[in-house]
Amino acid sequence: MTSYVYDFSQGGMDQKDLLGGKGANLAEMTGLGMPVPPGFTISTDACRAYLAEGQQPDGLAEEVTTHLTALEQARGKRLGDPDDPLLVSVRSGAKFSMPGMMETVLNVGLNDVSVQGLARVAGGDERFAYDSYRRLLQMFGSTVLGIEASIFADALDALKAERGSEDDLDLTADDLRGLVRTYQDLIREHSGRDFPQDPREQLDLAVLAVFDSWNTERAALYRRQEQIPDDLGTAVNICSMVFGNGGEGSGTGVAFTRDPATGRQGVYGDYLVNAQGEDVVAGIRNTVPLADLEQIDKAAYDELLAIMARLESHYRDLCDIEFTVEQGKLWMLQTRVGKRTAEAAFRIAHSLADEGIIDFDEAVDRVTGAQLAQLMFPRFDTDSERHLIGTGMNASPGAAVGKVVFDSPTAVERAARGDDVILVRRTTTPDDLSGMVAAKGILTSRGGKTSHAAVVARGMGRTCVCGADGLDVDIAAGRFTAADGTVIAEGDTISIDGTTGEIFAGAVEVVDSLVVRHFEGDEAAGDDELVRAVTRLMDHADSVRRLGVRANADTPEDATRARRFGAQGIGLCRTEHMFLGDRRELVEHLILAEDAEQQRVALDALLPLQREDFTGILEAMDGLPVTIRLLDPPLHEFLPDYTELAVRLAIEQEHGEDQPRTHRLLAAVKRLHEENPMLGLRGVRLGIVIPGLFTMQARAILEATAARTAAGGDPRPEIMIPLVAAPQELELMKAEIIAVAAEVEQETGTKLSFLVGTMIELPRAVMVADQIAASAEFFSFGTNDLTQMTWGFSRDDVEASFFSTYLDKGIFAVSPFESLDTEGVGQLVAQAVRTGREARPDLHLGVCGEHGGDPASIHFFDEVGLDYVSCSPYRVPVARLEAGRSAGAGSASA
Ligand code: ADP
Ligand code: MG
Ligand code: MG
Repeated sequence: MTSYVYDFSQGGMDQKDLLGGKGANLAEMTGLGMPVPPGFTISTDACRAYLAEGQQPDGLAEEVTTHLTALEQARGKRLGDPDDPLLVSVRSGAKFSMPGMMETVLNVGLNDVSVQGLARVAGGDERFAYDSYRRLLQMFGSTVLGIEASIFADALDALKAERGSEDDLDLTADDLRGLVRTYQDLIREHSGRDFPQDPREQLDLAVLAVFDSWNTERAALYRRQEQIPDDLGTAVNICSMVFGNGGEGSGTGVAFTRDPATGRQGVYGDYLVNAQGEDVVAGIRNTVPLADLEQIDKAAYDELLAIMARLESHYRDLCDIEFTVEQGKLWMLQTRVGKRTAEAAFRIAHSLADEGIIDFDEAVDRVTGAQLAQLMFPRFDTDSERHLIGTGMNASPGAAVGKVVFDSPTAVERAARGDDVILVRRTTTPDDLSGMVAAKGILTSRGGKTSHAAVVARGMGRTCVCGADGLDVDIAAGRFTAADGTVIAEGDTISIDGTTGEIFAGAVEVVDSLVVRHFEGDEAAGDDELVRAVTRLMDHADSVRRLGVRANADTPEDATRARRFGAQGIGLCRTEHMFLGDRRELVEHLILAEDAEQQRVALDALLPLQREDFTGILEAMDGLPVTIRLLDPPLHEFLPDYTELAVRLAIEQEHGEDQPRTHRLLAAVKRLHEENPMLGLRGVRLGIVIPGLFTMQARAILEATAARTAAGGDPRPEIMIPLVAAPQELELMKAEIIAVAAEVEQETGTKLSFLVGTMIELPRAVMVADQIAASAEFFSFGTNDLTQMTWGFSRDDVEASFFSTYLDKGIFAVSPFESLDTEGVGQLVAQAVRTGREARPDLHLGVCGEHGGDPASIHFFDEVGLDYVSCSPYRVPVARLEAGRSAGAGSASA
């Protein structure tokens, strides 16, 4: 027979799937002999069965009875007994904590009769008994009967106002007795039924309400955003009540074994005398720092500190704790491995490893690339004066300061004048795109992490805070009002923190990341404790990882930075920017050339410039591989815009000065126009159609290589042909490159060493990867294009138009451009790896799409056996860390 219910003495911390996080940890503490009020846990199995069948599963009621009876015997009281009632709390607790999503009901078992019994056993303390009863009515009313919580809060506030007090503690026993009657009336009025007086009925209804709370809309939304599976269900913990609200000798508190903000050791937490449950976090009365408990109740304080030390060494991590002191007796109500900031995560992992409590593999596993990325963003100076006016969701990290604008045209216009602007909207739509591009940061008052604003901002790397619902945004009036009454009008400056979700009035000073300064060679930064922790963990990650990390860099400056950040070469050097700026004219010559001779002249003019570009990059990356991609984008990208040209021509004609060149350019733009440029004349197709283009680039690379070699350097170029779909394309290009190499060797008298390979970014290339590998010495997966081509959507258009809807509907949990679609696109990568290596065992394999810097994707690339990932210089440390974590996780599970 399966059982659905487990006593706290039966389980342990490894059973979070079955008992939920709260239940598993209550059981663990019980097993450690800590003072946990006795109780039992109804498992997630029961919840899943209930949600599937729509009714309590068979046998559950009987099991609850058995465990309840045992609990009653242990405590020597019966649930809701009129003379001396046992009271319990009914507490939700899923595998992953979902703060504020599901509810807890305290003091179950009280009714109009047992409340008097409770008062009698509490030495005639009616105030305490009625305070407990009104709390039950309030929580039961809102959680179980679905009555708006504010209805109860308003009644309480009205009563306090009547008594001329702000403090719950000023209410007398009579006041609270009256409040109980008011609450019972409100329950009848709003739910159409009386508050159930039968204790067991209260219990059963509360349990089902907790089960049901798994499926509320907000819980489902939270899960989607946090990527928590929908089918886990929640456990329910029935825990005998202990009372922190029985006078000055009692109280309730929260504690952390280390500071969750900084990771430092010490005594952190808050305590509230004469209070119950969430009073301490609800901010209704002023708490005192935990350290003050030493004065208030030394014995309880000492015991708590001893338990905290034991919990930390038992869990080998920072723990957070809820506790209550009942008439001098300490009770532990909850513990779990606590949430922490990125800074604290690194400090704690490092310090635990340093103390030998965990090993460095585990320390590296306890920090994430996302946390490291947070530490690398510039941030607001916490020491400077800041006026917090609201908090929203941290949708896209960074620290942005600017003048508020409420619409896109104004954003564009102000940005063009050189202002930094923050675009503030209720929500954004594709129409806001130009404003989002122009803004330094985006702030919305509605929508979550998958809203349009959040998705697009992340895609563009813009700082974004979304869903700040405390702000009242009035677009028409050009202002917003914060919850504290602060009014911000268009043109006023605000600061938004995309890492924490905080919004500040005025300009907050921005400071550079010490971690970045350290990577960039600032020696003073290396003394910082946090930087030391990061460096130590990074060193370990480097020592265990198999996967190489290269950078995408197009200039010697970027290459140099990437090297400082630990890049082991360049995985993608794009050459298109080398065709822009003052070289545009040369490129125009090439495009307008009317015969082979004119084309050759144009290419000859570009050759020395390209050679110089490559010399600089090969020098910056001396001794390390540099993968250079030959020209990829469609040519029209190098020509002026059609409308712009048409206007120019019209003006020229009006003055009777129209230039033949303008006519020719316009004709060329027309000729090169493509309906689907991403599927048009680009990549290797350019190399094949424009004779001499790729050979000019190859010659520039090889001449630069020869020059570097002659100068005693160690250049290691890898020439990469983009957008290959057929092996013949690569064969043709490779033959030309080999011929050029022979010429350059002859001309310079230098022996050249280089590779020729291809990008794999078209599904067809994957299908014929074995044939392509016959001539390719390396593959580099261009996962941006491979994603576009596999899904059949254009990144430039779809992210802004329908991705937020797709994310909301759960078609994918994260944009496939942000994190590799391992089920689809990833399978293509895996297949090409396999067939490519079969055809050429020493085939070198890497990835150069933006996925190369994404943590989840990096783990996948490691698993399928790529040799390296390549990402932007700033992501290099993130990739190194994640590659180390991936290797560590592999060895741990092996
Ligand atoms: P959450 O998941 O929101 O933390 P909890 O189930 O921990 O909810 O309960 C809410 C509050 O009630 C917490 O402060 C907790 O410590 C307190 N509480 C829960 N059960 C009991 C109990 N049996 N006796 C006293 N206080 C309790
Ligand atoms: Mg809560
Ligand atoms: Mg809790």
